[in-house]
Amino acid sequence: MDMDVFWADQLAEEAIIRAKKERRIVTCRGAASPSGGKHIGNLFDAAKAYMVHKAVLKKGYQSRFVFTHDDRDPLRNIPSKLPRLDGKWYMVDENTKKKLEKYLGVPYSRTPDPFKCCDSWSVHFATLWENGVRALGMKDAEFYFAEDLYEAGRFDSCVQAALEKLDVSRKIIKKFQESKESDYIPFDAICGKCGKIMGKAVSFDIEKKTVDYVCTGRDLAGKYAIQGCGFRGTTTFRGGKLPWSFEWPAQWSIWATTFEPFGKEHAEGSWPRCSVIAREVFEIEPPIPHIYEFLLINGEKMSTRYGNVYIAQEMLQIVEPEVFLYFYTKRSKKQRSLDLKTIHLLVEDFEKAERVYFGKDAADEKNRENMARMYESSFASVPKKMPFRLPYHLAVMVANLVPDRSWERSLQILKETGHVKEPLPADDEMQIKRRLELAAHWLDIFAPEGTKIAVNENPPKDLTLALKEKAALKEFAASLDQAKTEEGIYEKLYEIPRKHKIEPKAFFRAAYLALISRDRGPRLAPFIMALGRGRVKELLEKL
Ligand SMILES: [Zn+2]
Ligand SMILES: [Zn+2]
Repeated sequence: MDMDVFWADQLAEEAIIRAKKERRIVTCRGAASPSGGKHIGNLFDAAKAYMVHKAVLKKGYQSRFVFTHDDRDPLRNIPSKLPRLDGKWYMVDENTKKKLEKYLGVPYSRTPDPFKCCDSWSVHFATLWENGVRALGMKDAEFYFAEDLYEAGRFDSCVQAALEKLDVSRKIIKKFQESKESDYIPFDAICGKCGKIMGKAVSFDIEKKTVDYVCTGRDLAGKYAIQGCGFRGTTTFRGGKLPWSFEWPAQWSIWATTFEPFGKEHAEGSWPRCSVIAREVFEIEPPIPHIYEFLLINGEKMSTRYGNVYIAQEMLQIVEPEVFLYFYTKRSKKQRSLDLKTIHLLVEDFEKAERVYFGKDAADEKNRENMARMYESSFASVPKKMPFRLPYHLAVMVANLVPDRSWERSLQILKETGHVKEPLPADDEMQIKRRLELAAHWLDIFAPEGTKIAVNENPPKDLTLALKEKAALKEFAASLDQAKTEEGIYEKLYEIPRKHKIEPKAFFRAAYLALISRDRGPRLAPFIMALGRGRVKELLEKL
């Protein structure tokens, strides 16, 4: 039988073969420019590289996971909303926006932090990103700033190669980007006068390692046209940056990159020309590529314009880190959507893999190994014994019933429903408390309309029920003296409407209307247990 092999194991094997041939360790790499709050779609970059890195280590080969902040990229846009270091988003007011507009065209590394808590724009958003990546469990990531790498001369030899082989560089660029001018020199200088990375290289000196430039204007991704100041100056190979088509392959060279994941936009755009530049200018083989699709949220593209951009920190307020990282262990050849309204489905999916891993649940043989590897890859270190998991939907229900979030009251409900037995081990208590907190946060922020409920003290005044519905509910109320367990209640919930010749659906609807003034609600049997049978009985008897 054909086993389903975990995708990261397949790639790890390829990476090891390649690294052995090159007599190197494996390097898995990701990168992003710290342009603002990097959303959870960008996390594919880090997560995919990390999982292959971990898979290489598991196979007993050396590996590192490197992530660079491409912070010599220019500030090209001022987002309408930006997150603070604590992960909370703030609207950018007009005043701040005006002040920041002066920096359009300046590298992120030399633009001030809009929140003034860090040394630069770059450090602020890079720190936020690093915190998110580490909080997700990817703890052995090595982070680097392009600014530091340029300053330290790590790019020198690549700048030199791109300039020395100017004819080759030009020929490749011309082939892929016909609109580029014929006197193109692949180096953008930071202007010594205005600080913008708008210095167009006009000549260079390989011996002295310098570039002469003139500060001209440039279109930044079509959004803003930046004016240059006209200044003419000379700088070193460290005083600017390689254009993206050269900088990306230069990083493959600097880090001896074995494996690198990237989004579909690069696969169709710069990957082909960067691969040619890698081979013909830097004389290296491009890394093993891995292309991922865009991530949709609730079926829609993420955009600050729609207000549906989320960062890792926000997800970690509704699910445990391992649950969220599990999302990234799945194959992503197809476009994927994360549905925040039904986040419990992701949790249940993860918990199924957990039970399979610990041998508590069956999976067909073809999938078992794959699921176990996905589970393992969701942790920095896998727990020794299976953690206690309070079902997420139940945690939401408790959060619903305990608006003041009292632990004593929550615990009491869980004991009544039979989900918690005394004595409660400290580990389990911690897990339950954490999940209740997460579910309560989900209920407050992401739950679809109507999930939040208030329980009636008395039957609602405007409640109109058919006579037989009322009679059935009263009989059900009386039966609650005997039906002491969830199963017992469940049986009555079907037996009684059958006797009164009512569809179960109509009966459930009547019960929800009486209890919470809605025509639907949480699963009824556990809900009644959680509310307390006495309380439900009292209310229904008043009908
Ligand atoms: Zn800051
Ligand atoms: Zn200038």
